[in-house]
Amino acid sequence: MKIHEYQAKELLARAGAKIPRGIVASTSAEAEKAFDALGGGPVVIKAQIHAGGRGKGHFAGSGKDFGGVKFVMKRGDIAGIAEVMLRYPLVTKQTGEAGQKVSKLLVVEASAKIVREVYVGMVLDRAVGAPVLMACAEGGVEIEEVAAHTPEKILKTIVEPEFGLQPFQARRVAYALGFTGEQATQAEALVTALAKVYLEKDCSLAEINPLAVMDNGEVLAVDAKMTFDDNALFRHPDLVALRDEAEEDPAELRAGRSGLSFISLTGNIGCLVNGAGLAMSTMDIIKYHGGEPANFLDVGGGANKDQVTEAFRILLGDPRVKAVLVNIFGGIMQCDIIAGAILAAFKEVGFHVPLVVRLEGTNVEQGRKMLAESGQNITTANGLTEAAKKVVAAAK
Ligand code: GDP
Ligand code: MG
Repeated sequence: MKIHEYQAKELLARAGAKIPRGIVASTSAEAEKAFDALGGGPVVIKAQIHAGGRGKGHFAGSGKDFGGVKFVMKRGDIAGIAEVMLRYPLVTKQTGEAGQKVSKLLVVEASAKIVREVYVGMVLDRAVGAPVLMACAEGGVEIEEVAAHTPEKILKTIVEPEFGLQPFQARRVAYALGFTGEQATQAEALVTALAKVYLEKDCSLAEINPLAVMDNGEVLAVDAKMTFDDNALFRHPDLVALRDEAEEDPAELRAGRSGLSFISLTGNIGCLVNGAGLAMSTMDIIKYHGGEPANFLDVGGGANKDQVTEAFRILLGDPRVKAVLVNIFGGIMQCDIIAGAILAAFKEVGFHVPLVVRLEGTNVEQGRKMLAESGQNITTANGLTEAAKKVVAAAK
């Protein structure tokens, strides 16, 4: 689960980080009020979406040349800018072409200018088997470029989860980022807060980018992003309350409510599979035969008829889906239950695209018989290769 910048900054502030003063606004009138409350400008208005790259983004169809981070000097300008941001979708490198609707703006006091920007972030490093704090003196908006081309510029510090980031580590990071004296102390406080939030809140990613030096000498967390481990959310009701469902994929949300593991992908072959391992190999073999899966869907070992019918509704509700492959190995899940659910889905939602079914395992004979006798247009397949070839051909 991801949260917005203003929420991530709030968590950091509670852990001891210094952040710029800011107020959240949902209308242009509220943005004007925030402008006044923050001392009458200048301010920065920041569109709140879960994707990054806002500064270099644009509002599709607005005809304006600014992105999701806009400086405003005069009170008279703020309402117009806020209205554009709240009306048009914001397109960034991370949103896809359609962009993301903005419903909240963060208005930030900006009388001090930024003189230097650095990057700090913490992730779970699977190779190391521990959280790692990353720091890079070249921060700001191009950190992905640095990571791709000059990874040696990123200092990595392993953080023992039991003990947290140690003061000597925080100090070493601050110096490596080029800080000295009082500013080093401020930078240490920021990375310490970052590590604290990461560990306490079960993050899978937490970053401050930029961690900025202002022209008045202050060192602040100017932008922050956080992703939490969904499997740990049950321990954090306070985080669950920060969820913004409007930012999430509607199909994934719907599947989540029915207890299905579903991930939207970019292809056109809908997949309904039981077991994560089988679902992965099904996607592999579809790609191997020249197709592109539209989703990953694991209905689980013990899915019931209602869940399977809901899974079909989600797949068939996606206009990109040009063919569906059902690949079931009936262990706990029985093939006749799946066959029943397929036929129920035929009745209820209607299949407007070709369906290829590969069944194997418990009650497979009954399952196949039900499909064969249904009189519906269902292509059956023996084995994974045949199933993949048939569905790839059907989707073309
Ligand atoms: P992102 O593009 O989505 O990563 O959004 P950021 O919040 O990182 O903003 C992009 C750039 O705008 C930053 O690198 C800063 O240079 C500038 N910026 C963002 N927020 C502030 C702010 O509160 N004050 C000032 N002075 N500049 C900001
Ligand atoms: Mg940023």
